[in-house]
Amino acid sequence: MRQVHFGPAAAGQPDAHSLGCLPGQTVLCRAPLSEGVRAIRFEPGGAVELVQVPNPKPGPEDVLVQVLAAGVCHTDLHLLDEAKAGDLPPLIPGHEIVGRITKVGGDVYAANVGDHVIVHFEQPCGRCRQCRRKRTNLCEEGHTLGFDSPGGYAEFVVAKQSTVLPLPPSLSPAVAAPLGCSGTTAYRAVVTQGQADEDDLVVVIGAGGVGLSAVQIAKVQEAKVLAVDTREEARKAALDVGADDAVVPGGAAEAVRGLAGDVGADVIVDFVGKKITFDLGRSLLGHGGRFLVVAPGAETTTVSANDLVDGGKSYLGVYSSTMADLARVIALAEAKRLTPVVTRKEPLANAASVLEDLRNGRIVGRAVLFPGPMDPD
Ligand SMILES: [Zn+2]
Ligand SMILES: [Zn+2]
Repeated sequence: MRQVHFGPAAAGQPDAHSLGCLPGQTVLCRAPLSEGVRAIRFEPGGAVELVQVPNPKPGPEDVLVQVLAAGVCHTDLHLLDEAKAGDLPPLIPGHEIVGRITKVGGDVYAANVGDHVIVHFEQPCGRCRQCRRKRTNLCEEGHTLGFDSPGGYAEFVVAKQSTVLPLPPSLSPAVAAPLGCSGTTAYRAVVTQGQADEDDLVVVIGAGGVGLSAVQIAKVQEAKVLAVDTREEARKAALDVGADDAVVPGGAAEAVRGLAGDVGADVIVDFVGKKITFDLGRSLLGHGGRFLVVAPGAETTTVSANDLVDGGKSYLGVYSSTMADLARVIALAEAKRLTPVVTRKEPLANAASVLEDLRNGRIVGRAVLFPGPMDPD
């Protein structure tokens, strides 16, 4: 396969075309944009392929971002399952994106070539009822990078200028990439909707990538935090990032009593989305409690009016996040109060094996892919 290099490393290298290179040759290519870009694509049937796609072209209000790092989210597995079932057209996934702007559209005023940015995957239309009310996570007419338009498992991605925020120089792309989904989703669940405060007990069910961010964010709110996970490494990771306790599901009731006495938990965040976790969370929820469901899931359970009315409990769905949520988590990360747990770093071409390991529970925290140089500054 041709090896294509971008950026400073390729500067000064002869253009492949001027050398008259042939397909199959390994060359350094100074002008790869005329060649298309490398990307990982989910194919109908479920194959994860490394492909060459046409150069993405920014519109007047868009920026072209050279992807430096892309986080691998559990949601990517749901998308892959949809592809396997034939319910998805070919898709370039990836919705946790950090990169460098290499081109701006004619009407771009909020970003410049060379800026290092974090990209929010939601690309809201800006005109619909939800956008007018700044509920951009619920936009009815926009699109979503890595879901219904090309995402960050690629050398380049196009984003609206209104959906990028500056990457603070103190944050590496690898650590910052997971802020785009893992960080913002956790923030929205724990703070924006969960309204956790210093007098609360927050229970995080599922201490994966998003769950570990939720533990940290709940500690920023000075709440007590209990993490619940079946995996020992995940429980250890939760304790490492500040959880007051971490237990298997069977130990949750006793742990809640240990941390909050008999009043139950104030905020439960379910990152698993199965009947068993819903029922567990419900059994732990105290008066005034908020139950936040983050992970999608089709399993059903029974909830009565009494379940909500008794003790004034709220059951809330958390869908995506807004630029306001992203701005807050970037600020928390810059202040070193939130550090996404990144335990695996791989070149983009290894996406298939990373996804397989994620599916099999072999990745604690987040894995990050690099379309270009490994672990760039
Ligand atoms: Zn995600
Ligand atoms: Zn909209």
